[in-house]
Amino acid sequence: MIIIDVVFNTEEHFTADQLLEWSRSRDASISRATVYRTLPLLTESGLVHEMDFGKDQKYYDPNYADHPNHHHIICEDCDRIVEFESEKIEQLEGEIAQKLGFALRSQNLRITANCESLKKNGSCGQKDACR
Ligand SMILES: [Zn+2]
Ligand SMILES: [Zn+2]
Repeated sequence: MIIIDVVFNTEEHFTADQLLEWSRSRDASISRATVYRTLPLLTESGLVHEMDFGKDQKYYDPNYADHPNHHHIICEDCDRIVEFESEKIEQLEGEIAQKLGFALRSQNLRITANCESLKKNGSCGQKDACR
């Protein structure tokens, strides 16, 4: 219950380890195994979306059910993730699908980029804070 409560009270994308940490701050007795067992239940029910950003860990998206068509831009260094939606992209994807004889069902674009501080300073100040 606490794990599910934690998941639906965050707007952030999280990893399994982050979820474990947040859950433990509410109830120290929650085990890693419980978190790892609960996550597939949430993804299978479609409430949480599992995303592979090509990082060491998978990310989980808590508001996928409300915004199934949002896109992500992610810093290649500090893993900062920002969501966005774009009607233009949606339109374009529809056109591409149609041209190729497909019917568009869902869309998910991932842009890998350098965040503001990586761009400016050559490193991300938040890198350690994030982990
Ligand atoms: Zn997202
Ligand atoms: Zn960064």
